[in-house]
Amino acid sequence: MSVNSYNPYKNAQAQFDSVAERIGLDKATCDLLREPMNEYHCLIPVKMDDGSTKVFKGYRIQHNNARGAAKGGIRFHPQETVDTVRALAMWMTWKCAVVDIPLGGGKGGVICDPRSMTEREQERLCRGWVRQLVKDMGPNIDVPAPDVMTNAKHMLWMLDEYETIVGERTPGFITGKPVEMGGSLGRTEATGFGVIYTVREALRELNIKAENTSASIQGFGNVAQYAAKLYQEMGGKVVAVSCWNFKDEKAYTIFKKDGLDIEALIEISDSYGSIDNKKAQDMGCETLNGDAWLEQEVDILIPAALENQITVNNVNKISKQVKIIAEGANGPTTEDADEILRESDIFVIPDFLANAGGVTCSYFEQVQSNTNYYWEKEEVLEKLDAKMTAAFKDVYELAAKKDLYMRDAAYVISINRVAQSVKMRGWI
Ligand code: GLU
Repeated sequence: MSVNSYNPYKNAQAQFDSVAERIGLDKATCDLLREPMNEYHCLIPVKMDDGSTKVFKGYRIQHNNARGAAKGGIRFHPQETVDTVRALAMWMTWKCAVVDIPLGGGKGGVICDPRSMTEREQERLCRGWVRQLVKDMGPNIDVPAPDVMTNAKHMLWMLDEYETIVGERTPGFITGKPVEMGGSLGRTEATGFGVIYTVREALRELNIKAENTSASIQGFGNVAQYAAKLYQEMGGKVVAVSCWNFKDEKAYTIFKKDGLDIEALIEISDSYGSIDNKKAQDMGCETLNGDAWLEQEVDILIPAALENQITVNNVNKISKQVKIIAEGANGPTTEDADEILRESDIFVIPDFLANAGGVTCSYFEQVQSNTNYYWEKEEVLEKLDAKMTAAFKDVYELAAKKDLYMRDAAYVISINRVAQSVKMRGWI
């Protein structure tokens, strides 16, 4: 199967169905949780700098809000599909539940390529997306955040548009804002750091010292960069990172056997995490093909790019040395590849647990914004570590007790929590 023929929504539903059946979830709750509750599709006309008008397709999908307002990022991507947004919204529900924060799941998307748009065009697109969806979002309804190819600047334009329309200051409408404008310290680092907190706990359980390990990472955006930094601080060695090269329209893997200098690579990458190959070679790195990240003889693999990256076509290329896969991205492993991984000795830290640091910190940001009182970075990161570690332990202990695959154990916890909220509210 080619990567493009995998459907993340089908994957998300299959994951849900199998665990729902295992825990004997009643039919009505299954019917409610296997699809999004609300979907908003819109067209966003944007005046381009050359005077023309371009119409973009946008989405906001709320999967479930039984535990609290819908929460989740908005991504800008040329290959965005409604089914991807549906899957991502669903995974947000499980993500918020597994770290036990009082929020539901939502996700937004716009089919566009911000890399070929000017700043002003991007601003108009952000404002247009809010204008189309303003009735169905809000600090107590649905709270967006950054995701693939969206950042703090986009969040502030969206907030400004929302506040202009509603006529009041509501910084809790969106998270991932610039720190000087109501953002939380630590939010930029949170997803990548969160991945590594769970890797640290997994290493502890497996009795392996971080300083004796090496890792290969797919992606070099926000999540990958901060994961790489913290992993190195823990003593680990990152030997490979892969990234998308916009000019060549293909991915490359940047490799160095003795370990990459992550700070130096960040210096020579653009704001979308595209590394300058020529400069990397000048620094003594090798440039391999885009898939090579997965084939390295390392202890830890961190897919931190997009969905559907570990498939039945490449899963067998994973080295026997790999002990941990920490899914920094959402849905990086397809269902058929997952069947193979669950039979292997690899310890998989599933996506909605591994990458829950971002939304956990978003929740802290919301709390700070709503109370208009901001915490020190140390306090934020301490709280983040505590939440991630507790969630990892809950999942790990259940997996050990019931002999479950980590992904299934995470699902059991999340589905049970959401199902209980649905019942307590009297919906079912
Ligand atoms: N987009 C991130 C995710 O997939 C963060 C969501 C948020 O902070 O609300 O988890």
